[in-house]
Order: sequence, then structure tokens, then C-alpha cells
Amino acid sequence: MAPELPFSYQVVRSRRRRTASLVIDMGCVEVRVPALVDALWVDNWVRSKADWIVPRLESQTRALERHAIVIEQGGRFILEGVDFTLGWCRGAKSDVAVSGSQVQLTLSSRIRKDETDAVRELLKRWMVGVAGQRLVARCRELGEQCGLQPSAVQVRDYRRKWGQCNVRGEISLNWRLLHLSPEQRDYVLIHELCHLREMNHGRRFWALVARHCPDYRQYRSALSAAYPYLIW
Ligand SMILES: [Zn+2]
Repeated sequence: MAPELPFSYQVVRSRRRRTASLVIDMGCVEVRVPALVDALWVDNWVRSKADWIVPRLESQTRALERHAIVIEQGGRFILEGVDFTLGWCRGAKSDVAVSGSQVQLTLSSRIRKDETDAVRELLKRWMVGVAGQRLVARCRELGEQCGLQPSAVQVRDYRRKWGQCNVRGEISLNWRLLHLSPEQRDYVLIHELCHLREMNHGRRFWALVARHCPDYRQYRSALSAAYPYLIW
């Protein structure tokens, strides 16, 4: 029997697929293969790619260690790229307070469900509220600076992307952008604003981004390490 691989993987079979391919995403390895390929072939093929897979998986694991939102007493919460210690207690009314290096929640004593779930829900609701003010205002402000005015700016909950701009000139922003450092967040906002003029990722689009955010390359490549913010 072949030695155990240092990682696990998931196989996705498709009748339309003719070749095998690998996707490493959010710390998971996915192998996409034609429907009828046998399991031993898949395993051998994955083994032959291990040298390519392992370093990528390791860098995603490091990103997870650095950027994971940890919902537990004394856990970690990250706002604008800065680490905060998370804690909660029971009280009359649910509330979120940020002071010093602490994010401290009060959970209403009427809440009966699992505390960790309740904390997660309360934090998300709070983030959506903050995003509705801060992110929307920042997007409008940058829009004015860049001469790119969206017709509407709204806050959304996305698991796979940071923002979106549609043909009607409406920009949707992931509330999870509040976890990013201000520079990185501004790059995402500028990126979406630039789509108001260039609805693609062509040369002219990136030239426009570079004009308003000269260091965009650095923020863009660092963004893949921020994926833990998308999965809590
Ligand atoms: Zn884009």
C-alpha cells in the first residue's frame, strides 16, 4: 500500500470533464476528474502532484493561523487588520463594545441557544451594521476622489468574493471587508469603483486601478491570504 499522503482531498467527478485538474482553495484540495476515472488512478495522479500541492496548502494553513477569526472566550477577532481579544458575558441586553484590544460582547440573558452560535450571530449583525455606515461612506468618499460615482452602494454577505459591481453602476460590498487593513480594503473599493468605467479585468482596467491605487499589486496578491475572513 502507498504511504499516507500528508493531506486529504476531495474528488469531484463530472461527465463533461475530459482531463483532471486540481484546485486548492481555502485550505482544501479538490481534484476534478472525468466521471469514469477509477479511484486508484486518481490517487496516483494526486501523489504525482504532491510537490506542487504541499507548499500551497502550507501557505494557506499559515494564512489561517494568522487570520482566523476564533469565536471562543479569549479568542481572536480582527478589525481593520488589527487583532482583538474576544470575550463575552451575560447581561440585560445584547451589545458589542470595542475598547483597547478587546471586543467584548454582552449576551442577553434571554438567549437560550448555544452561546458560541449566539456570539457569532451577534458579531455578524454588528459587523453588517458597522459596514452599512463605514464601508458605504468610505466607498462614496473614494468615489468622489476618483471621479467614479456608483448609483448605489450596498452591503452584502458573500463567501467567495469581496465585492461586486453591476452594469447598473451598483456596488455591493462584503461586510467582511471590515477585517482587512485600511489600505487593503481601499484597494478593493477602488477595484469595484473602477469597474464603473471598465466592466472587465483588461489592460485599461488595471491602468485605471493603478492610477488611483499605485500599490495595488501588493494588496491584490496579499488578498488571497485573507480568505479565513470569508469562512467564519
Ligand atoms: Zn473585478
